[in-house]
Amino acid sequence: MARYTGPSCRQCRRENMELYLKGDRCYTDKCAIKRRNYPPGQHGQSRVKVSAYGVQLREKQKVRRIYGLLEKQFRSYFVEADRQKGVTGENLLSLLERRLDNVVYRLGFASSRSESRQLVRHGHFVLNGRKVNIPSIQLKVGDVIELREKSKKIVSINESLEAVVRRGIPQWLEIDKEAFKGNLKGLPVREDITTPIQEQLIVELYSK
Ligand code: SF4
Repeated sequence: MARYTGPSCRQCRRENMELYLKGDRCYTDKCAIKRRNYPPGQHGQSRVKVSAYGVQLREKQKVRRIYGLLEKQFRSYFVEADRQKGVTGENLLSLLERRLDNVVYRLGFASSRSESRQLVRHGHFVLNGRKVNIPSIQLKVGDVIELREKSKKIVSINESLEAVVRRGIPQWLEIDKEAFKGNLKGLPVREDITTPIQEQLIVELYSK
């Protein structure tokens, strides 16, 4: 499937905020947002008046980039969120958070979502005792994610588990670092998503 293969930092600079796409580097002074805090491109430093539509579009692009999704995938999440009961914007964030690759990242097995997606794709995890390799699987309460025995020695995974204290593990997840195992204690609620996201702008954009 087609996917964005350009520079990750360019996406952060476009959205004018840290999207934490590059793992540990994002917490250092090498972060491009700290060095060049203006949009990329020839006209990046010129002043541009942004329309209401532009603000909504940027918010959607920001969230899409955070979770590493293509437009078509992101749109289908919105359709599903809109179909469910409750607040559409919150449903959307909940669906995105419960993707397997996101949960692997949140539990600390990977330093970024792209890394967690690759780990899932390469079959390093079992879900409820069965090997999985599909990053988009939707998890539900009680699901157990475990690193396969042969993968427990991978240095990058061990380093990520050590470093996860820096960003913390959300309260809806539980990790047993000794057993390389995590589970969903509950469903993510709006307060659990601390990234500054204005999901109502995305709802407005797609509702036009
Ligand atoms: Fe974004 Fe990380 Fe690059 Fe900083 S280092 S601009 S947070 S991807």
